[in-house]
Amino acid sequence: MKKYFLFIIMAILFSEVSIAQKKEYRVSKSNKEWQKLLTPKQYYILREAGTERPFTSPLNKNYEKGVYVCAACKTPLYKSEHKYDSHSGWPSFDREIKGNVENDVDYKIGYARTELKCNTCGGHLGHSFRDGPKKTTGIRHCINGAALEFIRKQ
Ligand SMILES: [Zn+2]
Repeated sequence: MKKYFLFIIMAILFSEVSIAQKKEYRVSKSNKEWQKLLTPKQYYILREAGTERPFTSPLNKNYEKGVYVCAACKTPLYKSEHKYDSHSGWPSFDREIKGNVENDVDYKIGYARTELKCNTCGGHLGHSFRDGPKKTTGIRHCINGAALEFIRKQ
């Protein structure tokens, strides 16, 4: 009886672990396929959760009107009207296009940070912090420019 009980507990634990790891994205490709589609820098950021060096993205100081889409799957993620200069060296937004950016948690540098991912393909975008503009949301989406493509408003 005890053994049986233990088995049930283990089964529940394992099923929850596998559910947590298995998020199905609408756009899903193998690493090889992504490597063909993306530049090495885009692949490093989007698929390996890398970070570009600050002040290196041409989008950092871009204030033209338009929309920022995922460089991998082209889903619209951010609008130009929500972009602001955080002086951090990375493109910064005070909010995402609702439903298109996923919040996840990573412990890469020892403590929990909110990781931002494309909700369509799971590509890593950056992190969110609570030091955004106080007048609006108070949230800063700190995004790697290489994870985005800018589409100018016609
Ligand atoms: Zn995407």
